[in-house]
Amino acid sequence: MRLRSGLVCAMLCLGCFVLVGFGFTGGAALSVSAEDVDAVISHSVLAGETVPGVRQLSWPPHRGVSAAPDSPLGTLIASAAGPQEPTDQRSAIAYTQRFVQVKQQGTFQASHEYRVPEELRSLRVRLPPAATVTDKSGFSHAGNGTYEWTGARTAVSLTYQMPANRSHDDGDLRAVSDEYAYVDAGEWAIVEQPQPDHHWTWDDQPVGLERSVRVAGEGAAGQRMVYFGPYREYTREAHGQQFRLIVPEATALSVDRRALLDSLAAASDTLRVGDRDDEVFVVAAPTEGVEWQLRGLQRGPADFWVQADEPLATPENVWLHEYVHTRQGYRLAPDLEWTREGTAVYYAALLSLEQGLVSGDAIRARLDSCADGEFGASTLSSPDTWEPSADYCLGALVASDLDRRLRLASDGERSLQTVLRRLNAREQPATAETFVILLGSVGDGSVAAAGSLYTMTTERPSPSPSPFRGPGS
Ligand SMILES: [Zn+2]
Repeated sequence: MRLRSGLVCAMLCLGCFVLVGFGFTGGAALSVSAEDVDAVISHSVLAGETVPGVRQLSWPPHRGVSAAPDSPLGTLIASAAGPQEPTDQRSAIAYTQRFVQVKQQGTFQASHEYRVPEELRSLRVRLPPAATVTDKSGFSHAGNGTYEWTGARTAVSLTYQMPANRSHDDGDLRAVSDEYAYVDAGEWAIVEQPQPDHHWTWDDQPVGLERSVRVAGEGAAGQRMVYFGPYREYTREAHGQQFRLIVPEATALSVDRRALLDSLAAASDTLRVGDRDDEVFVVAAPTEGVEWQLRGLQRGPADFWVQADEPLATPENVWLHEYVHTRQGYRLAPDLEWTREGTAVYYAALLSLEQGLVSGDAIRARLDSCADGEFGASTLSSPDTWEPSADYCLGALVASDLDRRLRLASDGERSLQTVLRRLNAREQPATAETFVILLGSVGDGSVAAAGSLYTMTTERPSPSPSPFRGPGS
């Protein structure tokens, strides 16, 4: 995302790590009742698998006992939940999260409805700290925001209210009141779906969890964001992805919607880095009467909003920037975190050029501005040294330089996309050292040396006279 002062987007993506890092990138489409078809949003499946000694699971798996991907439970989840629909009939907790816009502005309601199978022995749900429970059925309060299934009935529920207005602050979201990353404007709202922790155990047959998301009344949702209010939806199928463009009645796109969907669809093909989610959920955020803190925000596997007046014909192309984030399924150690924004900025510019939206000169001017010394002692592999937006601007400059070197070293056969594809294929978090090793294997020793120099020291690449020329993708 981009702060109004210049940053493009914040990509806080625990959901990515959960859903993509463990291999189930898209929701498996399960049956829903006909009257709810328009409101059913997404579906993720966790299914248990028979592993000796394992009789418990947690979701989301990034917290709690199954946090580590190489732990027995992490392995269990990874092996049990593929991107395709489940192929067996193992029992599962049917978990429906239903969102409702309420009259009290600045608040929305979330209801959890569960149908539990008879094999279930226990179910514990820990709600977010900001949740205010208004109703429960079949659960007892266990303190500290945790609710336990009483075991008396198989159809049970929890209902609570959440604050809608959130701001972005240094990589995290918090509740403040002046500029927003999520907001309830009354007529409409864009909010983040709460992600409560679930932990459950069973007796004999393993039990999974099937999650579906719905909006009551007017609205739409992806896997991490909800839009409340009247809207029109436009869709495009491309390269195994469905793009859902939500345009609220309260706004008008400043770009032609077909051109926007064309651009996203073209990027879907051009980016060959893996991690293509089945569905990309895009909201054109109204700008009237709201002080957005950001120009765009991407969360979860493939949800994002962008201010509706953002143009396409600019090297900063926030629409493509946020889309690039949806293709970053890898997990990163702090010393490689710069690649999140650096490659998003770089590929937003490069894809815009390749799509004929901007000139090479415009992009070179943008990148050259990042080499003029304003980033002082910023070292990309040390986030605590970063001047504001160093990861965006300096990161993009270094990404551009390394992309050019990789293409030259491989006679155009490989590029920085090859490195990103290998990062996406990893299960373990990647470090700065991992990155340099990949530069060496995809390119050669000289590319690795340049990567080490420009990411681990304050040396800067010279602005290239032709950073965007050359074969390869
Ligand atoms: Zn970003």
